[in-house]
Amino acid sequence: MVMDGLGDRAVKQLHWKTPLQAAVRPNLNWFAEHGSSGIVDIIGPGIRPGSDTSHLSILGYDPYKVYTGRGPIEAAGTGLVGKKGDVAFRCNFATVDDNMVVTDRRAGRIKEPDTTELVRPFDGMVIDGIKVVVKEATEHRAVLLLSGPGLSAKVSDADPHGSTKVHEVIPLEPEAKKTAKIVNAFVKKSYSLLNDHPVNLRRASEKQPVANILLPRGAGMFPEIVPFEEKWDMTGSCVAGVSLIKGIGRICGLDIVEVPGATGGLDTDMIAKAKASLQQLESRDFVLMNIKAADIAAHDGDAAKKVAVIERLDDMAGFLHATLPEDVVVAFVADHCTPIEMQDHSGDPVPLTIYCPGMVRDTGATFDEAAASQGGLGRIRGKDIMPILYDKAGRSEKFGA
Ligand code: ZN
Ligand code: ZN
Repeated sequence: MVMDGLGDRAVKQLHWKTPLQAAVRPNLNWFAEHGSSGIVDIIGPGIRPGSDTSHLSILGYDPYKVYTGRGPIEAAGTGLVGKKGDVAFRCNFATVDDNMVVTDRRAGRIKEPDTTELVRPFDGMVIDGIKVVVKEATEHRAVLLLSGPGLSAKVSDADPHGSTKVHEVIPLEPEAKKTAKIVNAFVKKSYSLLNDHPVNLRRASEKQPVANILLPRGAGMFPEIVPFEEKWDMTGSCVAGVSLIKGIGRICGLDIVEVPGATGGLDTDMIAKAKASLQQLESRDFVLMNIKAADIAAHDGDAAKKVAVIERLDDMAGFLHATLPEDVVVAFVADHCTPIEMQDHSGDPVPLTIYCPGMVRDTGATFDEAAASQGGLGRIRGKDIMPILYDKAGRSEKFGA
C-alpha cells in the first residue's frame, strides 16, 4: 500500500508536526501498534526519488539498471509496451502558428474525446522503415512509440518548453542521427495531419486553441526487465489511478486493474481501490496499490489539504483493518517524502509499517515519521521491502542447513 508523497518534514503552521503527525489516524496507528515499523531510504540516503524510480525500487528492481527515462513508462501507462530497443517519447498536443512558434503548449488543455480523434490519422504510420504509434494520454498529453532496428534515445526534445519556435531534434550521439531524422519528420507530419483536422476546424470555430502539432520530449529506450512473476515467483497486480504507476506496473509485468472511481486525483475512491486490491488477492499473490492524493496536496503546498487526505487514507486503512484476511501481509509505506515546504520530492526517509498476525509488535508505536524511526525494522532501503514481505509470507527459502 503505497501512499504517494505521504512523508513530510516538521511544518511551522502545524506547530512543527508533520502532516501525518497532525492527522487523526486511529487505523494507521492500529497497524503500527500491532506491527513493526521502520524508516526507508527508498533509493538511498538523500536521494530524491521520482514516483517511477521509487516504485521500481519498492518492487525490488534496481532503478539505476532498469530506468531509462520517463518516455517508456508513460507509454506503458497508456498500454503501449515496446520491445527492448524501441524508443518512446512523451508528447504534448500543442498549438503553433504559421511560423511554427508555440502559442499554447497544452492546446487549451485539450482532452478526450478530441485527442482520441486526433491520433487516428497516425494509424499505420511508418517512417524510414520504423513503425510509428501515437496514443493519447491524460488531457493534452500523448505518447509516441518508435519500433524497429537501429534506434537511439539520445536525441533532444522537439518541445521548446516555452513560447518559442518548435525545436529541431538534434542527435546527441552519432548513432542517434536516424532517430533524430525520424522524429523531425514525425513532427512535420503531425502538423500536416492535424492542422486541418475536423476536430481542429470545430475547435477554431468555437474559439478554442487548436491542437495542430505533437511535440515529443523525454526520449527513453525500452529496458529489458525481468518480469515480476519470474523475479519473485509470485503473480501480481497493480491497482493505481495515475498513468505513471500503471506504466511501472505494466513494464514489470503486473496485471493492471482498472477500478471505477480510481481517478488518480484528490477525488479518488480509496475504499473502492482497497476493495479491488483485496479482490485481486483472491487470485493473485501480490498487489501493489498506489494512492496519489497526498502527493498532489503536497505539490500544491497545502498543509491542511494534505492532513485531510491522510485522514481519508486512514479511513481506507480502517476498511482494510476490518476486512483483511488473516493470511495477508500488508505494508504501509510512502514512495518518497513530498514536504509541503518544498512542494516537491525530498531525499528524506519514509515511514513503513508491516503488519501480519504474529508480527513482533513495536512498543508505544504510532504511524508517523518519528515513531517509525524507533521501530523494529530500523532503517532499510526500498529494495529490502520485498524480501521482508516475502519472508513474512512464508515464501523465502532457508540459506544454509
Ligand atoms: Zn510519488
Ligand atoms: Zn510527486
